[in-house]
Amino acid sequence: MPRYVEDPNKLNARARGLLEELRDKGTLKMKDRLAIPVQRPPVLDPGERSRWQEEVEKPLTPAQAVLESMRCIQCKNPACVKGCPVAIDIPEFLRLTAEGNFSAAIEVIKRTSLLPAICGRVCPQERQCQKDCAVGKSLKDVGLAVAIGKVERFLADWQRNQAQAPVPRIKSPSGRKVAVIGSGPAGLVVAADCRREGHQVTVFEAFHKLGGVLRYGIPEFRLPKEVVDAEIDLLRRMGVEFRTNFVVGRTRKLLDLMDKDGFDAVFIGSGAGLPVFTGMPGEDLVGVFSANEYLTRANMMGAIHPGRTDTPMFVSRRTVVLGGGNVAMDACRMARRLGAEEVVVLYRRSRTEMPARAEEVEHALEEGIEIRFLENALGVLGDESGRVRAVTVQRYALGEPDASGRRRPVPIEGDTYELPADAVLVAIGNNSNPLLTSTTPGLEVNARGNIVVDPETGCTSLERVFAGGDIVLGAATVILAMGEGRRAARSINEMLAREAIEEAADAPRAHAAPTGHWAPGRLRRRRLALGTRRRG
Ligand SMILES: Cc1cc2nc3c(=O)[nH]c(=O)nc-3n(C[C@H](O)[C@H](O)[C@H](O)COP(=O)(O)OP(=O)(O)OC[C@H]3O[C@@H](n4cnc5c(N)ncnc54)[C@H](O)[C@@H]3O)c2cc1C
Ligand code: SF4
Repeated sequence: MPRYVEDPNKLNARARGLLEELRDKGTLKMKDRLAIPVQRPPVLDPGERSRWQEEVEKPLTPAQAVLESMRCIQCKNPACVKGCPVAIDIPEFLRLTAEGNFSAAIEVIKRTSLLPAICGRVCPQERQCQKDCAVGKSLKDVGLAVAIGKVERFLADWQRNQAQAPVPRIKSPSGRKVAVIGSGPAGLVVAADCRREGHQVTVFEAFHKLGGVLRYGIPEFRLPKEVVDAEIDLLRRMGVEFRTNFVVGRTRKLLDLMDKDGFDAVFIGSGAGLPVFTGMPGEDLVGVFSANEYLTRANMMGAIHPGRTDTPMFVSRRTVVLGGGNVAMDACRMARRLGAEEVVVLYRRSRTEMPARAEEVEHALEEGIEIRFLENALGVLGDESGRVRAVTVQRYALGEPDASGRRRPVPIEGDTYELPADAVLVAIGNNSNPLLTSTTPGLEVNARGNIVVDPETGCTSLERVFAGGDIVLGAATVILAMGEGRRAARSINEMLAREAIEEAADAPRAHAAPTGHWAPGRLRRRRLALGTRRRG
């Protein structure tokens, strides 16, 4: 039986007691709602959990979810909806949850977001929907805002545990084929939205497993893979076809998918999986890894189960992690779980500027990770056998804000020291892999290698080719990738529907033509004429 920071039974009993009291009061006033304490979910004890892969945070109990939803004051002009990148009707799903109508509440979320069990777990809510929540504002603490993400996660888990999720209604076959490149959140959303319209959808994935970063990057202790499997299983039941170990650009060129395989539209959701290195001296020593590779070995290639797979994993005692984002937090917590006794994160700005989710930073600190702010590596030092032995660390001060609005770190001249280490994980960012873009003539990319799209439609410079997610935005977030996928799917569906109407209008006339020259080639050309224009 795992130990918890606070016994889940006690948390539940307290919530139930409070619910009884509130029910006796009848209609709640605003001050009653503001007086309800924020509901904290059960969390595994940090001493124990930092050696396990088990998910750290459990869902709210039903009584907690109802109580938390009762904290919402149902604003007329809700700031939470404005802060949500996909504009979920948050007050409505909270209202239904407060009434105990969980099935209606989750349907409200699913109208807008396909992956609530995932978003409820990994979205940076404190910077999005919860940032300007009226309750948090009234209580003068964003940490006391309505815990929207926790309720969202509760509802999604509740539905998953009830029964197999129902397959959404699929329109009758349209005769059109859509290819989706990449099975991350952007690709999964496009697959679902296009399939619902009756199109035949095939997802091509370079890896041997599906899910993109949700599978290879974000660890089990934050996002159990059964949650990702359930979402993919639903798509399979909807009739989406998945082809793994299929690298578009190598196994098959993108344009061949349309010209030779007959796909009518292609969506590129190939993400930003190419790690960035610092270029500092010593980065080629044995023991220096990109955090992405480290996490991929652990999460997707089974290195978290030594003995069960052949995947080798570098065992280290003292690990230094460079960076301050979610990747850095996942890497440092994974290093701890894989046996490192000391893990130090170096981040060259202060905690305020840290891009990682606040909760991940707190969990990392609880697990004994040390974060040294305003410090960064200048170089890596090796021993006589070419293995890492230390990191040279530079101290910084904060200067004026830079283009990102965050205060610029300025090195303090001469203020350096040596930090002993036997492994260094570099988590300073990711770029897009150029394989696909460089093998697709005419596909416009910007200076950073990201695909350029029309912001309204997600169309690329090539006809019938759409893109979204990290390959367009650069390394961003799950919800933004999903939002991009949804927008591109809408454009694809509109384009294909328009063509179907045009063809239907053409067909009788073509059959009636005296020459009888009605041919698929003509249709194809017509479809091209109607499709997305190549933009100059
Ligand atoms: C370790 C880590 C932790 C993160 N934590 C969070 C978090 O807590 N919250 C949050 O919101 N965001 C987080 N992010 C960011 C988030 O996961 C990404 O923004 C999101 O997954 C992007 O989705 P995507 O669909 O665009 O791409 P991805 O998820 O990257 O999926 C792209 C897929 O395309 C495949 N692919 C690439 N090229 C090809 C090709 N040529 N042919 C076929 N397939 C191809 C890849 O193998 C991959 O499976 C994290 C990222 C990482 C790396
Ligand atoms: S801003 Fe906060 S209180 Fe207002 S509707 Fe949204 S969740 Fe409820």
